[in-house]
Amino acid sequence: MRKLPIYFVLDTSESMVGEPINAVVQGLVTMLGVLRKDPYALESAYLSVITFGTEAKQLVPLTELSQFQVPKLILGSGTSLGAALLLLEKRIAVEVTKSTAQVKGDYKPLVFLMTDGEPTDRWETIADKFLKNRSLQLVAIGCGPDTNLNTLRRITELVITGAEANQETLAKFFKWVSASVATASQSVDKTGESKISLEKFPQDDNLKIVEETTPQQKTEPNRFVFMHNKCIKTKKFYIQKFEKSGQQTGGFFGLGKKNKYTKAGVFPLDDFEQLSSSGGISISTELLDSTNPCPYCGNESWALCSCGKTHCSPEIKDAKKSLTLTCPWCNTTSDYGIVDSFSVGGGSG
Ligand SMILES: [Zn+2]
Ligand SMILES: [Zn+2]
Repeated sequence: MRKLPIYFVLDTSESMVGEPINAVVQGLVTMLGVLRKDPYALESAYLSVITFGTEAKQLVPLTELSQFQVPKLILGSGTSLGAALLLLEKRIAVEVTKSTAQVKGDYKPLVFLMTDGEPTDRWETIADKFLKNRSLQLVAIGCGPDTNLNTLRRITELVITGAEANQETLAKFFKWVSASVATASQSVDKTGESKISLEKFPQDDNLKIVEETTPQQKTEPNRFVFMHNKCIKTKKFYIQKFEKSGQQTGGFFGLGKKNKYTKAGVFPLDDFEQLSSSGGISISTELLDSTNPCPYCGNESWALCSCGKTHCSPEIKDAKKSLTLTCPWCNTTSDYGIVDSFSVGGGSG
C-alpha cells in the first residue's frame, strides 16, 4: 500500500499563546473529522506533526489517519524554523519509502508549514535546499502582520498569508487543507502523483496567495512583549502579553512621545519551554501603561527578584516599607522594595 504522507510543521513560539494555538488545535481536530469520513483519505493518508518553538520536535510520527490523534502543543521561547526543516527532512528519509526501479514507493509528501513570526535560528541554508527539493510539496502559511514573507518564499513557491493568526483565518486554512488532502488522496490513484495547487485556494481579504511580486509586509518586531511570570502562591507559570499602543508620534527626528505598551492578555500555562538565554526584546516597566492581575491568585502587582525573574506580588502600599517574599523561581527569600523601573520581557516571538 502506497502511503500519502502529510506533515504538519507548526510554530509553537510564545507569540502563538491564546487564540492562535487554540485555533491550530481546533483546525486539526476539525480536519481530522472531515478526512475520516473520506474513504480515499482513510485508505492512503498518513499524518505527522512537527512543532518548532524552543526546539524542533516530532510530536507524532507518521501515523495512519484512523490512528492519528491531535497532540498537545507546548509553547516555548524561540522560533526554530531551521531546526524544524532539518528534522522534517530526516523524518521523511526514515518514514517515507522512496521509489526505485524495482519498488514503487510512497507518494510525494505534502507539507503544511504554519508560522506567525521570524525564525530565531539559522534557517537560510536549509531553506534554500527545500526550495530545490522536488520530492515533496510544501505549502507555507504565514499568519499575522509579523510574518516575514521573504523567509517563507525562500522555502517554497506556495506561500499563503493570513491577516491574523486567529480562529477565523485558521479555520479557513484547515478547511482548505482538508479539501486539498481529500483531492490529493483521490487523484493519487489516477495519476500516481499527489499534488497540491493553489488554483482553487479561496482567496479573500483574510487569506491571500503570496505572489513573487507581493511586497514584504511591514513587520514590527517590537509589537508584542511577553513577560514570563510565576505565581508566588501556586508557583505556577503564566505569560503576560503586552501590545504596543498607538503610533510613533515623534517629531522631526523621531523624538517625542514614547510608545506605551498595553496589556493584551494573561495566559496561565502548565507547560512551557524556555531558552536558557532568552532572545527577543525587553522593555522598561516605564513603558507599561497597564498590567494584568495574576491569573492564579489575583495579586495585582508583580516583582523582580535578584535572580532576574518576575513573579506576582501583593501590592506594596507604603513606598517606605518593604515586603519579604520568596521567589517562586529560585526559592530565595528577600526583601522587596519599590524601584522606579526595571526591564521585563526578553521572550522571543
Ligand atoms: Zn499569583
Ligand atoms: Zn528568584
